[in-house]
Amino acid sequence: MTDTASIAVRPAWQQALAQSIRDPRQLAETLSLPADWVAAHSPARELFPLQVTRHFVSLMTPGDCDDPLLRQVMPHQDEYKEAAGFTTDPLAEQQSSQPGLLHKYRSRVLVILRGGCAINCRYCFRRHFPYADHHFGPQQRAELINYIRQDAAINEVIVSGGDPLLATDEQFTRLLDELEQLPQLLRIRIHSRLPVVLPERLTDALAQRLAASRLQAILVIHANHPREIAPQLQERLQAWVNAGITVLNQSVLLRDINDDAATLAELSERLFAARVLPYYLHQLDKVKGASHFAVTDAHACAIAAQLRALLPGFLVPRLVREIAGEPSKTPLELTLV
Ligand code: SF4
Repeated sequence: MTDTASIAVRPAWQQALAQSIRDPRQLAETLSLPADWVAAHSPARELFPLQVTRHFVSLMTPGDCDDPLLRQVMPHQDEYKEAAGFTTDPLAEQQSSQPGLLHKYRSRVLVILRGGCAINCRYCFRRHFPYADHHFGPQQRAELINYIRQDAAINEVIVSGGDPLLATDEQFTRLLDELEQLPQLLRIRIHSRLPVVLPERLTDALAQRLAASRLQAILVIHANHPREIAPQLQERLQAWVNAGITVLNQSVLLRDINDDAATLAELSERLFAARVLPYYLHQLDKVKGASHFAVTDAHACAIAAQLRALLPGFLVPRLVREIAGEPSKTPLELTLV
């Protein structure tokens, strides 16, 4: 098959992904950003490459260097700052005894199905994660199935990454076929930012395969700002919800991006209009290179209190922090009493 032919048969979402922007100058041109500003911040891409889909860029405001979506993806010179407590492995994940698999919580096991993402979020707690050591192929799939079979307490598989929806529908189907054979499993949960940055990834075919599974399927998307809930995303989410998939959202609290109650309240409203329930609002994990996104705990708790006043309870995400070694996420407000 020629290269041209192989491109022609790729699904639409893979073709869109291939058009992603990886060069700050191209981003600057697309958004009419000042050349000197871009030149000042671009070197930080050596710490973590720039990568963003054209759909996500289309949601940004041209000419605005402070755009809350742009700030999530544009390298920044503050990433060179050393900050106490910010490390390359904030959740102590990199010593997993079984590559590709993290067993942090008693009843749930997390599988790194795919390394890499469709977007590189500058605040990502896995920005230093050695994905190359966590390849998930047929051997890893067999080891995962064996691991779960030997531990009756595991009833849920969380498929994560990187971004697991970078796997093809066929790869998902193969994994599902095997997981469905394990009688103790009740659920499969997919954690992905791809729907937000590439809505066409939510194919009808994958929704139908998940809906046909004996395992309950949950999709947890990751949106931080109301402008990320685009019409294309709403349309695809409707299709998945109509197919019977439960969809939740998690956000990260980020300085100068979404650290105010009005922005987060609007995000919750837009999510619910797209039939998505707000789930978690995460305090930033202290990853090296991201200290400029940090919000103080006092400010975070004040925002949470304002959200409770603005929204019905079911639209208020739980404000949590992940602490390495803890058996579950820790509600932030409990740590301050
Ligand atoms: S999509 Fe998720 S895993 Fe990927 S860079 Fe962003 S936060 Fe990290």
